[in-house]
Amino acid sequence: MFVKYLIIGGGVTGLGASYRLRDEGENDYLILEQGDHSGGLASSFRDEKGFWWDIGGHVQFSHYPYFDQAMEHAIPREGWLEHERESWVWLHNRFVPYPFQNNIRYLPTDSLMRCLRGLLSTWKSDNNEVPTDFKEWILKVFGVGVAEEFMLPYNYKVWAYPPEEMAYQWIGERVAVIDVERILENLVYERIDASWGPNNTFKFPTYGGTGAIWSSIATIVGRDKIRLKQSVVAIDAEKKQVVTSSGETYRYEHLLSTIPVTKLAQIVKQVPAAISRIASGLRHSSSNIVGVGLKGRPPEDVGTKCWMYFPESNCPFYRVTVFSNYSRNNVPDPEVHYSLMTETSESPNKPVDLSRLAEDTVEGLRNTKLISDEDEVVSVWSYRAEHGYPTPSLERDDILDSVIPYLDKLGIHSRGRFGGWKYEVSNQDHSFMQGVEWVDWIRQGKVEETYKVHRSLEMSTHRARKHVAKEELSLRSPAKSV
Ligand SMILES: Cc1cc2nc3c(=O)[nH]c(=O)nc-3n(C[C@H](O)[C@H](O)[C@H](O)COP(=O)(O)OP(=O)(O)OC[C@H]3O[C@@H](n4cnc5c(N)ncnc54)[C@H](O)[C@@H]3O)c2cc1C
Repeated sequence: MFVKYLIIGGGVTGLGASYRLRDEGENDYLILEQGDHSGGLASSFRDEKGFWWDIGGHVQFSHYPYFDQAMEHAIPREGWLEHERESWVWLHNRFVPYPFQNNIRYLPTDSLMRCLRGLLSTWKSDNNEVPTDFKEWILKVFGVGVAEEFMLPYNYKVWAYPPEEMAYQWIGERVAVIDVERILENLVYERIDASWGPNNTFKFPTYGGTGAIWSSIATIVGRDKIRLKQSVVAIDAEKKQVVTSSGETYRYEHLLSTIPVTKLAQIVKQVPAAISRIASGLRHSSSNIVGVGLKGRPPEDVGTKCWMYFPESNCPFYRVTVFSNYSRNNVPDPEVHYSLMTETSESPNKPVDLSRLAEDTVEGLRNTKLISDEDEVVSVWSYRAEHGYPTPSLERDDILDSVIPYLDKLGIHSRGRFGGWKYEVSNQDHSFMQGVEWVDWIRQGKVEETYKVHRSLEMSTHRARKHVAKEELSLRSPAKSV
């Protein structure tokens, strides 16, 4: 079979590319997806007891009008719910509003003083040295108190790699900017200084979780344009031909791949072993989602919370989403049920005993007081995404700089969360637009702003980092990492 635009992977990036092609009046495209449904990491599932789950709580961020239009096309306005992004950190047996460093007055006195001393000493410091890694960056920006109380343990739990093995240039806008004066004012006036509020809202589908959006987009691009259970196992760039595990062959004019680039480099006939070896140096972590459906009422202080961060070692997860707060339809009976969706990271560096994870999660929910003794656990749903987070490791940009242009020259364009391996442009909106912009590049020669421009800017920042003055660093901490 010959197809003009062949897309490997039916996740958000592949759907974005096909949505654009359809929008342009192009009909000659096809998606090959290895799974039995489209949506990839942005899929949702209904468990046997009737609870809905995402693969980790998905929040709609948007940086693009085109993405916004597509969202309204997928689900009409009345099909969305709007929520305030209310997030908290749980430690020392209490909730601290997020951003953590703005609200240190909630901490026990000794911890508060440690955090304050650290913040003041970084503020007074005239150390102009540019950090070499994420750990140094955290210590330099936040001081030792906030770093050790929250930033270092939390980031290890999220990323599953030590912060000293990670770069920090990816942080970009995923930050909450604060200043010492403001922290002091918050202390003196006993103010809550949280990142939520009337202008900080997000939308969520009323029915069917995040996956409902992508299921609708799949219908728009045409179910007949998505071949399910088609796992691509070999690509010949010269013959412009793709082979699937069931032995089917597809010839193409243009090829977009959204599968992990580490895998892609292994299956393209013309990619030499040396390049494939370089690609295999990219690191990732796996995401283990355990959804716990409960009969009972959420604890009073969970109230309207959206998600919570857990830096301590009394639970395996780093984040919990109160998924029943996203939509009452996420539980079978909203009068008697609520649901908590947990995320636990895993890597060779931070192995997880999967046989115990569900049990450890429920115990962790009790340790952190999210479940009371009266609550009855009615459902436990587990999902493991081998590729969950593309790690911004120290060597990442150099690896991508060798591998992506090599594949581009072969006419094989690797984009998306793991196709492009750039965490900072791998939310749903970025991924969707990477697909859209790939189409615009191929058809109209337009620059791919999200992947390529961002990438080259980032790399020049990386190269210039020795010359970055201290003043350019502001006091920041990561916003929701997704
Ligand atoms: C825990 C977690 C929380 C997140 N939270 C948010 C959030 O709050 N907000 C947000 O905007 N984004 C969030 N994201 C990111 C969001 O899920 C991604 O942006 C998006 O799903 C990436 O889409 P993709 O198409 O690039 O990749 P994927 O979803 O990985 O799609 C790739 C597809 O390729 C298929 N495939 C793989 N190999 C083959 C093969 N050999 N042949 C054929 N098909 C193949 C896979 O089955 C998959 O369907 C989160 C992600 C995770 C893991």
